[in-house]
Amino acid sequence: MTTMKERLEEVKERIALAAERAGRDPNEVTLVAVTKTHPVSVVREAYDLGVKQFGENRPEEALPKIDALAAQLLAGGLQAPSWHMIGHVQHRKVKLVVGHYVLIHSVDTVKLARRLDSRFREAELRQPILLEVNIAGEESKFGFAPEDLPAAVEEIATLEGLELQGLMTVAPIVENPEEVRPVFRRLRELLDDLRRRFPNIPWKHLSMGMTDDFEVAIEEGATLVRIGRAIFGERGTV
Ligand SMILES: *Cc1c(COP(=O)(O)O)cnc(C)c1O
Repeated sequence: MTTMKERLEEVKERIALAAERAGRDPNEVTLVAVTKTHPVSVVREAYDLGVKQFGENRPEEALPKIDALAAQLLAGGLQAPSWHMIGHVQHRKVKLVVGHYVLIHSVDTVKLARRLDSRFREAELRQPILLEVNIAGEESKFGFAPEDLPAAVEEIATLEGLELQGLMTVAPIVENPEEVRPVFRRLRELLDDLRRRFPNIPWKHLSMGMTDDFEVAIEEGATLVRIGRAIFGERGTV
C-alpha cells in the first residue's frame, strides 16, 4: 500500500518529466485533482498535502463538499481551494455552478453556454469556461464536433457572462496511451486554428489527460491535467 503523499509525489514527478521531454516548463501544467466519489476528509488530506486545485464532475455531488471544506478551512483560518467543474452540466443544474468554480471545463453546447451566460450575468459574474470537444466522435461522449467549433465560438464569444479560455477533451479508453496521442494533437491543432481565427479571445488552456494518459497529453501541450485514480486510488462504483 502506498500513501496519498507518495502517490501525489509520483504524479507530480511524472508531470515534470513529461513536460521536460516535450521541452516545456513543468510550471505550465496545472494538476487538477479529481475528487469525485471521495468524501471531504479525502479532499482535506490532499489539501493538507498542498493540492489547491480540485475537480468534480457532478454539480449536485460537488456543492456540499465545496461548502463543507470551505467551512472547515475557514474555521482554521485557511483559504478555500479552487474548484473546477469537469463534467456535463444539465440545464436544470446550471444554478448549482454559479459562483463556485474557477473554471468550467465542460461547456458542450451553445444552448448550455446561453443558459450559463444568463445566470452569470444575473449574478454579475463573468465565468471562465472551456469548450468540450468530442474529437473521436464517440456516441457516449458529450462535446462539440470539431467542425462545429468555429460557429460556436463566434456566438459564445459574444456572451458577456462567460470568458472563453480554451478547449477540453476526454480521450477514448484504450490499452496503450500512445493510441490517443492523435486525439490530443488534434485538440491542440484546433486551439491553434481558433487562435488564428479569433485572436482577441484569451486562449490559454488545453484541458486534456487523465490517470491513464496524462503524460502523452502533456507532451502534446496540455496546460491542465485532470487526475483522480493515480492520486486517490480506484473509485467504488458510484
Ligand atoms: C473522473 C474524471 C477524470 C479523472 O479520471 P481518472 O481516470 O480518475 O484520472 C478526468 N476528467 C473527467 C471529465 C472525469 O470525469
